Amino acid sequence: MAKILIVEDEQEIRELVSAYLRNDQFEVDAEEDGKMALNRIKSNHYDLIILDLMLPSLSGEKICEEVRTFSNVPILMLTAKSDLSDKVFGFRIGADDYLTKPFEPIELLERVRALLRRSQNDRPKATLLRVLNGRILIDTESLRVTKDGVEIPLTTNEFKILMVLLSNPNRVFSRDEIIEQAFGMEYDSFDRAIDTHIKNIRAKLEDDSKHPMMIKTIYGAGYRAELTYDTEA
Ligand code: CA
Repeated sequence: MAKILIVEDEQEIRELVSAYLRNDQFEVDAEEDGKMALNRIKSNHYDLIILDLMLPSLSGEKICEEVRTFSNVPILMLTAKSDLSDKVFGFRIGADDYLTKPFEPIELLERVRALLRRSQNDRPKATLLRVLNGRILIDTESLRVTKDGVEIPLTTNEFKILMVLLSNPNRVFSRDEIIEQAFGMEYDSFDRAIDTHIKNIRAKLEDDSKHPMMIKTIYGAGYRAELTYDTEA
């Protein structure tokens, strides 16, 4: 359920919009004061903000500018300011949509739905890599690896190397390429250090590290992740 903050100092509108959104199964917080609103946004997660512009203590424009320094949360400006220059300014400082008062609640609701749909599509999907027919699961967001349902602790360096190889399973990566892609150009390491990391990854994840199924050594060239995997939302 999406959580929405409505910032609006006119009680009637605040209550009307809140009621409409709640009726449509949204979770709604309501705030009438500008500074209080900014504090709420800083300390809570919202999926969308409906923002009036003329507010006590801090204007909606200032709130929007400040929010954009730390968040991409969709912002719908809801305001009596109907001049083109106000709208242009609103979009320039980071609004995603702009609706002028008076408005029809049904239109607001549809705009809210459209914004949420768009922002959910933009969100990067959590990726679960499935290796060895799903025996090994790698969650690239939480950096967790499990094998046969048991969590396998990898070091950060091991994880980075594994991600490089898995980024293109049919490609052979040289030791230099692995170092560069996993750690960056400035990383000061001789290429054989990669061998040690690979050995450790195999010891943790392969059934038989002498006959690896996952990470193959390509003599004279480097390493290749030999596997098929699919990504899941
Ligand atoms: Ca107002």
